[in-house]
Amino acid sequence: MTFELARRLETLRSQGLYRHRLTLETPQTVNITVRGRSLLAFCSNDYLGLAARPEIADAFMDGLRRWGTGGGASHLVNGHFTPHHELETALARFTGRPRALLFGSGYAANVAVLSVFGGMATSVLQDRLNHASLLDGGLLSGTRMVRYLHNDPGSLETHLGRAGDAPLVVTDGVFSMDGDLARLPEIAALTRAHGGLLVVDDAHGFGVLGERGTGSVGHLGLDSDDVPVLVGTLGKSFGTSGAFVAGSEEVIETLIQFAHSYIYTTSTPPALACATLKALELLETADTERAHLSALISTFRTEAAGMGLGLMDSQTPIQPVLLGDNDRAVAASAFLEDQGLLVRAIRPPTVPRGTARLRITFSAAHTHDDLARLLCALKAAKDRGIL
Ligand SMILES: *Cc1c(COP(=O)(O)O)cnc(C)c1O
Repeated sequence: MTFELARRLETLRSQGLYRHRLTLETPQTVNITVRGRSLLAFCSNDYLGLAARPEIADAFMDGLRRWGTGGGASHLVNGHFTPHHELETALARFTGRPRALLFGSGYAANVAVLSVFGGMATSVLQDRLNHASLLDGGLLSGTRMVRYLHNDPGSLETHLGRAGDAPLVVTDGVFSMDGDLARLPEIAALTRAHGGLLVVDDAHGFGVLGERGTGSVGHLGLDSDDVPVLVGTLGKSFGTSGAFVAGSEEVIETLIQFAHSYIYTTSTPPALACATLKALELLETADTERAHLSALISTFRTEAAGMGLGLMDSQTPIQPVLLGDNDRAVAASAFLEDQGLLVRAIRPPTVPRGTARLRITFSAAHTHDDLARLLCALKAAKDRGIL
């Protein structure tokens, strides 16, 4: 076997980088069952607890009865339905942009944006901690790509100086593995000053930050001149599936005409758009959930800092505990699992080498008792030298 699959897999194992899937035997809530065991989970991106909400399931089922199960064709042939149109209109209103365009996943949306606008750019400048889908899309663009220092406007400025007259600048709004907020006002100002186009992927900001859950961009009060291309995903706070790009008439029409990951793929089930319309309504009015999340986050940070845990600079529901070594992160995760808690170890290449971590995430569905259980288990791990 010339591909040497067994050897490659063994290498991963020996480096502590082998990944295993868990099979959930219950819906995506904070209390799940895996291999017959109940676990309190702190690792999903379902920040508002919408993934298993009955109102959204009802909207999905009503949609299924009315529209059937499949889109049946791509959007440009005859797979574009009234619910898709209604959801795009609602997402445009929600983000305060003229148009929005639906995609089957955030991965597909980012590949579309980066391949099309990156392909027209003189350079593609990306934060070095951007999501893998943005980096992959950048490679597909065929344009010279530079990764500037994480959330560092000085580094961005240096690279903009050599980036030609039409740079594409790309950043996560909230960084998925660190939880910190991008310095968007400075990044937007620099991008404009250099005649560039800014793309913000706010997968982890929507629903959590800003008035009505309008995300990092809403939270920081930036408009569509600052952030002309805004990407959001629907599988995180929205609790459903898919993604959208919001922007001007020209931005959206350009994607429709040129983006292969939009054109050459079947539309998502129209019933899914019915479910997401309901999710959007719940997300916009989830002020109580957002306030509860903030309270959980601030208590966690105070208590965890008191224990001397390696917290990161994050005010969002993503609260990683940095460990560094891969095996240590895996051992810490296993210890917590023994205590009935599910927190997954995140290792390279998802994060840079030497920065393996526990990625703790909070959901509005967690109670203060759940948080107390987590803190108690972290304390026990700390006392045993595991953290
Ligand atoms: C999850 C995520 C994506 C991918 O979205 P999917 O809908 O899961 O494909 C893109 N960007 C960021 C920052 C993400 O965290």
